Amino acid sequence: MTLFTDLGLAEPVIRAVTAESYTTPTPIQSQSIPIILEGHDLVGIAQTGTGKTAAFVLPLLHRLAEKRTNPGARGCRTLILAPTRELANQIAESARVYGKFIRPSVAVVIGGAKPGPQARQMMPGVDILVATPGRLLDHVSTGAIRLDGTDTIILDEADQMLDLGFMPAIRKIMSMLPGRRQAIMFSATMPKPIRALAAEFLRNPREVAVSVESKPIDRIDQRVMLLTGDQKKDALVTLMKESGVERAIVFTRTKHGADKVCRHLEAANIGASAIHGNKSQSQRERALDQFRQGRIKVLVATDIAARGIDVDGISHVVNFELPNIPESYVHRIGRTARAGTDGVAVSFVEPAELTYLRDIERLIGKQLIPGGAVPVRGLNPPHLTRGQNQRGGGGQNRNAAAQKPGHSRPQSRNHAAPARGRSDGGRAAGRVS
Ligand code: AMP
Repeated sequence: MTLFTDLGLAEPVIRAVTAESYTTPTPIQSQSIPIILEGHDLVGIAQTGTGKTAAFVLPLLHRLAEKRTNPGARGCRTLILAPTRELANQIAESARVYGKFIRPSVAVVIGGAKPGPQARQMMPGVDILVATPGRLLDHVSTGAIRLDGTDTIILDEADQMLDLGFMPAIRKIMSMLPGRRQAIMFSATMPKPIRALAAEFLRNPREVAVSVESKPIDRIDQRVMLLTGDQKKDALVTLMKESGVERAIVFTRTKHGADKVCRHLEAANIGASAIHGNKSQSQRERALDQFRQGRIKVLVATDIAARGIDVDGISHVVNFELPNIPESYVHRIGRTARAGTDGVAVSFVEPAELTYLRDIERLIGKQLIPGGAVPVRGLNPPHLTRGQNQRGGGGQNRNAAAQKPGHSRPQSRNHAAPARGRSDGGRAAGRVS
């Protein structure tokens, strides 16, 4: 078994992870950290929840502990690019937490916040800059930030940046960096355009991937509840009041749906808050803080708003509605069972959503309800099925479920898909749906 002390990290870095009660490095950490410390370029294939942030932040901090060079006015020694504001904030927070005995200067430059304070923060130069691509370019064009002294670049969640149309902005940023630099890219998936990006900007990169077996999804107890649409709200209240539900994220497909679910929970005296694109940055941050501190039990979110959210100790993820993009299911349920803990994911499925369920089952290679369509009969116990439990008594109702509408996908469901090829040069950094 690899230990943090085997990885060659400086003592103040080890002390910080020990203070976080991390006992051993996760697989992505034990594979990536030595490669980064040796100065190689790296492509890491890992989802959020695998510990990938520490995999790239710890070596950066190690380097700062070893040798602190002056980044120069308006410059940054390390640049980390992230697709969303939330993720950028979280990476910066991780750098502060893991860097508490090194005290690096860390700045965050993201859309949706005032540019003035960001520019002022950058004036003396910083060790680590975490940015979304569009806002970073805005600052570069006004001269508030310079990238000619940056020796390390990290692209986090590269596939999401591609989905959000940030590729032109990333190309521009990469062209502004010095020729001698270390480049590291992390992505949950490796579609062709991401491979092409790696080939274009990384030199002789090493590649690491967390094996399928260690994917957190295997540790998640995935359950399905078959309900009619109007039973869902009450079922949610019942579920949230069950013992064992400590902290839950509830996913809805629409902003409006998130607000409605949130109101219903509050009416039932369950502390809840919603985050989505109609909420201001400060409202979202407040909701996240309350959730992190345990002052509210439930966070209701749309897919894009929840992207990159990293809160420890989420015991339950509830799919109030199934996503129409099967990959989103994996992203959603990965909010629980992070880095070695177990968690429960419950999906409320109404007849019209059975097609989505099938798509998800195909993607994850696992039947969530063995034996195909099953009956929808009130809140028929057991409410929470783990597949087999639902098997019995399918009989004639099985057909009833299969004949319900929903086998053609309503257009309106596609609204949540991220726009590709945005033409705003990525200025939509961190926009949420
Ligand atoms: P990430 O994949 O970077 O989003 O990390 C997911 C979660 O794993 C975060 O909440 C970290 O606090 C936690 N984490 C990271 N590394 C470790 C580790 N070695 N042991 C335990 N937890 C970890």
